Amino acid sequence: MGNTMKDRVLIVEDEIDIAKLIQVHLTELDIDSDICCHGQQGLEQALKQNYQLVMLDVMLPGINGLDICRQLRQEKPLQAILILTSKTSETDRILGLELGADDYMTKPFSIRELQARVRTQLRRVHAFADRNKTNGHKANGNSSPVNNTEQANNNTCVGQLLVNQRYHQVTYKDNAINLTSTEFELLDFLCKNPDQVFSRSQLLDSVWGYNHSGYEHTVNSHINRLRNKLEEDCAEPKIIQTVWGVGYKLNSAGVH
Ligand code: CA
Repeated sequence: MGNTMKDRVLIVEDEIDIAKLIQVHLTELDIDSDICCHGQQGLEQALKQNYQLVMLDVMLPGINGLDICRQLRQEKPLQAILILTSKTSETDRILGLELGADDYMTKPFSIRELQARVRTQLRRVHAFADRNKTNGHKANGNSSPVNNTEQANNNTCVGQLLVNQRYHQVTYKDNAINLTSTEFELLDFLCKNPDQVFSRSQLLDSVWGYNHSGYEHTVNSHINRLRNKLEEDCAEPKIIQTVWGVGYKLNSAGVH
């Protein structure tokens, strides 16, 4: 897909007024969007077509947004997914993130908030597409040079944890770790700054590109997801550690 093509967003939302409002504000950003008011149709459309971002309401006729998120994530690991939840449903929010959403947005939301979140996701999608374009061919596991120099050949290494930006690949102890694009960016950021402690709001700033209060669940859930994929024992994480009262750090001594 060339850069000249407009971005496309799928809005799966059964409250048509909200869906149309989102559509209007996406149009202001020069983004095309389709609206789907039914869960099953939304899932089918998201699987069949190519959208840069899928926005999912939770309560939907047919399949709910959380189930769509789970199934979509299985089929399209790199699909950008944003969950729309109501203010009262904290469980949905956390569950959505645990199931693989990149971010969530609480209804009602402001135009600025909506546009900031959409821009963040699209920026990530474009950065990934650009890296692949520069590369010119599909990622090949054997082509990642092993190099301990930080960021040499687009690699960041901490112990046996290797993050390759160009190929969007993570290997730990020579095993490939499959990450969503946001998980990748978070891990990449932590690996570039080993042993530094970052607060949740600093991580939101650096990885998500915005910092609205009340969104630290997004960080927590992504940390949990990374731990599930990297740590031997998530109850006692050695690699991504919690620094109580402050935030998180990548513990270089734990990556061996
Ligand atoms: Ca709904």
